[in-house]
Amino acid sequence: MDPSRCYSSQPRTLRCSWTSSNPGRRFYGCEQYGMVGGCNYFFSFDPPMCERSRQVIPELLRSIDRTESQLHHVQAELRQVQAELRTVETELQRVSQRGKRMKGIVGGFLILAVDT
Ligand SMILES: [Zn+2]
Repeated sequence: MDPSRCYSSQPRTLRCSWTSSNPGRRFYGCEQYGMVGGCNYFFSFDPPMCERSRQVIPELLRSIDRTESQLHHVQAELRQVQAELRTVETELQRVSQRGKRMKGIVGGFLILAVDT
């Protein structure tokens, strides 16, 4: 048997396990695993994980998931606040232009009052 190939004679691929018993542990597996013509070839690349790693790494992964979830929530809130800000800026521009027109009208009245 060619050591660079799996049971089904496909090139073996270096993969990474994310199971709770082997989080982050690399292994060689069948390139076609789970597909037609693939096999369940397994050859460990990394040594067995210590108990501490099996406890800590899944907790770190859960922490990353929670943080990413919070980030997505904050990003959604930010998009909503940015949309509200655009609305307020548009309204502010409209009010500001109206104020300028009013100043012009008042200024015109003052000129008329002084001239008469
Ligand atoms: Zn295979």
